[in-house]
Formats: sequence, structure tokens, C-alpha cells
Amino acid sequence: MLIDISDIVFGGRTEMTEAVPIGLTSFESRLGSFPITRSTPAELRITHLLDQRIRISGTAELTVTIPCSRCLAEVPTELRLVIDRTLRTEGDFLIEEEGSAGEMTGDWDGAGAGPDADASDPAKEQEAEESPDYLDGWKLDTDRLVYGEILTGWPMKVLCREDCRGICRECGANLNEGECGCDRNAPDPRMAAIQDIFNKFKEV
Ligand SMILES: [Zn+2]
Ligand SMILES: [Zn+2]
Repeated sequence: MLIDISDIVFGGRTEMTEAVPIGLTSFESRLGSFPITRSTPAELRITHLLDQRIRISGTAELTVTIPCSRCLAEVPTELRLVIDRTLRTEGDFLIEEEGSAGEMTGDWDGAGAGPDADASDPAKEQEAEESPDYLDGWKLDTDRLVYGEILTGWPMKVLCREDCRGICRECGANLNEGECGCDRNAPDPRMAAIQDIFNKFKEV
């Protein structure tokens, strides 16, 4: 869904809130396609700040089906997204502001320069920055915004249960369903393909 935020950008309005349904039905990434089986509307708040800046914040919850890292069983996984982006106007478009101001405090005063030293800003923004992909001019593409948040919040590891026993690397049996009787001390090249799948998920 596209939301026109030009009124906020130009200060015609100071704030808008929208409950935006999430249009994504699956999450597509280089690891594959993961169905999104449930989602709450994203509760977005868009605020006009000082100095031609705006803030986009909000939350959303969704359920994504992700394979168990050990046995590949499909696990409905709850993701809670917390959105908080600050952008500033740069000519005809908006660019994201980096991190927090806290990064610059650190050793600044203890560096021997003294508090009155010429405090030219060491963190001058680079000029080559681009508008984020979730913006199209003054329109906010909420699904792209949500996509980026899912990517950021993607779980390192998903287990169908804490003590998932995985699959037998000899015969491929799901060991949660019982012992297959294999001797799993010797490596077996026939299972290399399945190991590859596991490694692929580990690399996330
Ligand atoms: Zn499992
Ligand atoms: Zn086995």
C-alpha cells in the first residue's frame, strides 16, 4: 500500500497515524519463499520533526512459516516488527539518517583537543546517499518497509521444539518420531545433499 506523506514532509500536518494491512503473503529471499500465514495491520505513525526531518515508527506482528533448523519441519514463527526510521529532506527526496547521536560522544572530550577546539563535524554525511527503496517520491510503500523489517529481524535459528533431535544423517528419518537404528558415527556421502540444506540455513 502506498501512503502519501507529502503533507507530513512539508509540515502541512504534524502527524498521521494509519493502520495499514500488510499486503505480503510470503517473504521472498535468497533462501527461498516463506509463507506469511497471519499478520496484524502495521500501526504506523508518521511525524514531522524539526529541521525538515520526519519519523516513521510503528509495530506489526506476523507469522511466517520457517523450516526447523534441524529437521526442516515447518514452524509457524511469530515475528514482531518494531519500525523506527528517521529521514531528512534532501532536495526532492528523503534519505535515512544514520544511527543515533550517541556515536559521536565517546572520547571526544578526552582526546586532548579541549572542549573549545574547532568542532568541525567529523560525521559529515556523504553526498551519494539515496532514497530508501520503500519510498517512491513522497509516497511510502508500506509493504517494502515491512519487507525490510522482516529481513532485519529474521531469526538466526528456528526450532520446532527446544530439544528437536533433527534428522538421521544416515537414512533421513526424523528422529523426533523415533530412533531409526542407524549407526550415525560414520559419515555417509549420500547425506551430503541434506547437509548442504542445513548449511544453507545456518548461513543466514
Ligand atoms: Zn525440528
Ligand atoms: Zn537412520
